[in-house]
Amino acid sequence: MRFDIITVLPELLESPLNHSIMQRAKDKGLLEVHLHQLRDYATGKHRQVDDYQFGGGAGMVMKPEPISACISKLCAERTYDEIIYTTPDGQMLDQALCNRLSMKQNVLILCGHYKGVDDRIRQKYVTLEVSIGDYVLSGGELAAAVIVDSVGRLIPGVLNDETSALFDSFQDNLLAPPVYTRPADWNGMKVPEVLLSGHEKNIEEWRHEQSIERTKTRRPDLLEKSGDGY
Ligand code: SAM
Repeated sequence: MRFDIITVLPELLESPLNHSIMQRAKDKGLLEVHLHQLRDYATGKHRQVDDYQFGGGAGMVMKPEPISACISKLCAERTYDEIIYTTPDGQMLDQALCNRLSMKQNVLILCGHYKGVDDRIRQKYVTLEVSIGDYVLSGGELAAAVIVDSVGRLIPGVLNDETSALFDSFQDNLLAPPVYTRPADWNGMKVPEVLLSGHEKNIEEWRHEQSIERTKTRRPDLLEKSGDGY
């Protein structure tokens, strides 16, 4: 899977996407992430990518021309399955959307700044608008990093069996059960007996019950979504 990300701050994306599972996914040839500096597509002495907003008011708006030039160049090189704009008024990113995006080949992400991008860019190019939560970030880079990480780890082969995404929260609309490691007795706090029993079926049942309990107490809304009647 390939992500192209248009940004005025590529530095903000380098660290999160160059470590741990994302780096391993790239090393395995399963994930490519290409960062494009928007200023390279701006003209004029100052390579300005923003301008005052029509109608007045505080805050600058990202100009359409550099974004259009960048998107046009990239679209001439390959076909994108989605052109995503990260924005607080977009569709909320959830596991179902991550699962869906992980099936795609080429995804382009446009990161906004200031007051956002000129709306005509959204109308002309953007196929999917994504929010990572009901709060406002300074720019779209952290949202883009969240999208690449949450989607990238779902690409078949990125995670090994032990860390399989199938056992993570939100798959099946359940939260993950509690987990423990050694020592079995830490300062008098003991690991649940069943996990030490080696009895696979009992362990599986215990984990499932714990998942349901956790979801009931912390996120009952997920159980309503699943319709499984727990
Ligand atoms: N004026 C915009 C509004 O109120 O909806 C907020 C602009 S914000 C300061 C600058 C940029 O950060 C946005 O264009 C968007 O790309 C990104 N951004 C901010 N919050 C976000 C969120 N919750 N999810 C995704 N992207 C976000």
